[in-house]
Amino acid sequence: MDTEKEELYQALILDHDQAPRHFHRLDPFSHTAEAYNPLCGDRYTIYLDLNSHIIRQISFEGYGCAISKASASMMTSMLSGASFESALALFSSFRTALLIENPPSDDSLGDLITLTGVISAPTRIKCALLAWEAACTAIQGASRHAITPETTN
Ligand code: ZN
Repeated sequence: MDTEKEELYQALILDHDQAPRHFHRLDPFSHTAEAYNPLCGDRYTIYLDLNSHIIRQISFEGYGCAISKASASMMTSMLSGASFESALALFSSFRTALLIENPPSDDSLGDLITLTGVISAPTRIKCALLAWEAACTAIQGASRHAITPETTN
């Protein structure tokens, strides 16, 4: 990648790190998810307001490295109002783009392209996926619950 592009990417990541979007506790929320990365010390709580198919709102609190915080900030910006299906699809595309060597260009990634562009070390991939993994686990739990409601009571 050329230096100019890399500088542009770094600047956007830094902007999300210094002024994270949706960086507060949701009130009310329907679900929370804890995200902790012992390798780096990143620790976040994700708040979600979910109905049966849509992420009405999503926010986060916590602290960690610039990569993990920028990724969480971009996530909350991109997933507010998204369907469960599109959120999980975006997570999958993001993960693929981080894990494979030369990912094909994927417009759906939006600002996430800045993270896939600058990250190569496996330890940083963990930072980038941290908040997404936590949020998507909560979303998958909520969608399973919606499909097969508990009938044990
Ligand atoms: Zn980190």
